[in-house]
Amino acid sequence: MHTLCTVQSEEHIEAIRESVSFCATVFRFCVHGVRVFSRKLKSLTVESFTMAPKNPVMNVVASPEDAGTLDTDLENTPYPAGYQQEQKRPPPQIVWRNVMLMCLLHLVSVYALLFTVWKCKMYTLVWTVFLYFLTGLGITAGAHRLWAHRSYKAKLPLRTFLGMCQTMAFQNDIYDWARDHRVHHKFSETDADPHNALRGFFFAHVGWLLVKKHPDVCESGKKLDFSDLMEDPIVRIQRKFYLPFVLLFCFIIPSYVPTYWGESAMNAYLVCGLLRYCLNLNATWLVNSAAHMWGQHPYDYTIQPAENPFVTTLALGEGWHNYHHVFPNDYRTGEFGWRINPTSIFIDVMAWFGQVTDRKLIAPNVILARKQRTGENNHCD
Ligand SMILES: [Zn+2]
Ligand SMILES: [Zn+2]
Repeated sequence: MHTLCTVQSEEHIEAIRESVSFCATVFRFCVHGVRVFSRKLKSLTVESFTMAPKNPVMNVVASPEDAGTLDTDLENTPYPAGYQQEQKRPPPQIVWRNVMLMCLLHLVSVYALLFTVWKCKMYTLVWTVFLYFLTGLGITAGAHRLWAHRSYKAKLPLRTFLGMCQTMAFQNDIYDWARDHRVHHKFSETDADPHNALRGFFFAHVGWLLVKKHPDVCESGKKLDFSDLMEDPIVRIQRKFYLPFVLLFCFIIPSYVPTYWGESAMNAYLVCGLLRYCLNLNATWLVNSAAHMWGQHPYDYTIQPAENPFVTTLALGEGWHNYHHVFPNDYRTGEFGWRINPTSIFIDVMAWFGQVTDRKLIAPNVILARKQRTGENNHCD
């Protein structure tokens, strides 16, 4: 009896030992698999976010001093001088919350475009177009030309109106928007540029919002002065109550008003709220992506920003981007005033009503001299 018990207990121990050994092997195998998978995922992510553009618009050749750092033929390299920065770039850290929110917004917007727009009443569609313009003006006439560039002065009633419109755009508050934009102008097409177009169309368009900022953006931002922004009570109040204001101006008011003419609240929310928001976002992003890649360079052929009529049409006059980067203080952001430029028309009308003063303009002879000096039409290389 005693012997039988001893044999049984030994068998148990052996079985347990085998089970433990099997589990340990499976565990080691899983850990190894996870490691390999994460390495692959990481390399994929880094490539997709750091790839230089295949065909950059400007064929700017690196300076002779850089010759030692590039092993390609400098005369033929298609990459601009800043390209070698890519080698030192730390892997981007993805902000998954933003990725999910952006995916969700775009999926719902596509659904609204395909299935809801056709069910809406005519007044609802007119209201959506009206909101698209108001939202656009909040960014173009407000955050961009007024607060970021100080290219004109506006009285309190107009600043209040533009502050509400800018909140409707839900593209961060005025302070953050103007701060990022000033850094963009100062450090264009470098790693310190928040939406550096040398990192490809996707990064310049939306990718920059899906990852943590490059350390150079934060470092360079500290060198600029943004104190003037917080002197404006509209900027301070909007920043303090930003989220409740966003709920009110970006979603509640746009969705509630159409119920007055019998529209369903859900249709209004999908079309006037989410779809309109998504379209405005993409129109703004096109200025950072498409207008930094495709178009003509009549004012300065050495920089990437270009004159892009398509972007200008969608972004209410903000696509004359070669001009704008050469003369950022001009309130028209384009040489030809009202040509595909509803924002300039709006500012001029507001000036007529006495709400706008001190519009900054660049003298025609200065523009002409610059065109002759650095315009691509005067340079065949
Ligand atoms: Zn730009
Ligand atoms: Zn600008």
